[in-house]
Amino acid sequence: MSRFLSHRFDGLEAYVPGEQPRDRTYIKLNTNESPYPPSPEVSERLCSGEIGNLNLYPDPTGRALKEKLAALYEVGPENVFLANGSDEILNFAFMAFCDAEHGVAFPDISYGFYPVFADLYAIPASVIPLKEDFSVDYRDYLNIGKMVVIANPNAPTGMKIPLSEIEEILKSNPGQVVLIDEAYVDFGGESCIPLIKKYDNLLVSHTYSKSRSMAGARLGYAIADRELIADLEKIKYSTNPYNINRLTLAAGEAAADSDAYYKENARKIISTREKTAETLREAGFTVLPSSANFIFVKHERLNGETMYRKLRDRGILVRYFGTGRIRDFVRISIGTPEQMEILARNLKEILAEQKDGGYEYEKK
Ligand SMILES: *Cc1c(COP(=O)(O)O)cnc(C)c1O
Repeated sequence: MSRFLSHRFDGLEAYVPGEQPRDRTYIKLNTNESPYPPSPEVSERLCSGEIGNLNLYPDPTGRALKEKLAALYEVGPENVFLANGSDEILNFAFMAFCDAEHGVAFPDISYGFYPVFADLYAIPASVIPLKEDFSVDYRDYLNIGKMVVIANPNAPTGMKIPLSEIEEILKSNPGQVVLIDEAYVDFGGESCIPLIKKYDNLLVSHTYSKSRSMAGARLGYAIADRELIADLEKIKYSTNPYNINRLTLAAGEAAADSDAYYKENARKIISTREKTAETLREAGFTVLPSSANFIFVKHERLNGETMYRKLRDRGILVRYFGTGRIRDFVRISIGTPEQMEILARNLKEILAEQKDGGYEYEKK
């Protein structure tokens, strides 16, 4: 840290993304990317001359992409906000809709970026424990009088909450924004986008990073009442009007035109997920019920860190969090069927070694 950094960031703990090591080739099951490439239309569009236009700024309104997304979700273009990844939507929402006086509430086990944004903007956060079974108790959020942020399906558990419960939260907090982060909704969740017509406090955020195979392009979008969208636009035009580059806008349009391709990929990933979960359960693993493109697993004879390290030694990356109630778990992204067979085989071998070896890495 230099002596120039403002003291207001002294205590800030930055978000730590999943590792992207370069020392060897890994089967990468640690950051919930799609194992499938973007649609052929995306590659075609990027090769069709957009590169030659990079001397020109992108359309700051993103009109063409907004119209395509609006058509897909049966809303108006004025209900769509475009962002440089959905992390930017979270950033803008924390900046716009809460402050030191009006705090924010989110679950204790959820996306690790929420507490970072709360910290960054010095927003008091109510961190609400999930229930014993790792589900969200919606009653904890009724009449809470703070911005509410819930990932549905949640990460890293993969568990979803029903729309009827989200509706109760919306109804009881008419003076607060309720942000539903639907990064994983295409893998078996139920989107609350239709509720934006009824609730002007609902902000739904989606990403191209998971089901649309474009994590490297950085594109996210929010859907909400037009007034909320206008607020986000105000923040965007006050920070980075050209937040989405030309190549990403073009790729995003082509991807919106290939919705069937991505739906088919999501279907494949769901089927691979169910098969993997079944195989691991048969081997004695606990697998939380997932509606996302990852599973959250533990085994009573293997601690989370051992599982993570031994898999890493074998060339397979998974995500290990190592804190509190989720210390024994690892989060495994769903790859191709072949990758998941390799994963399952390796986990079984690691288990077999454990039988006589005991705990290699001490339980903390
Ligand atoms: C991956 C993820 C995001 C971030 O997505 P980007 O669009 O890549 O910034 C947001 N929320 C949750 C819950 C995620 O898992």
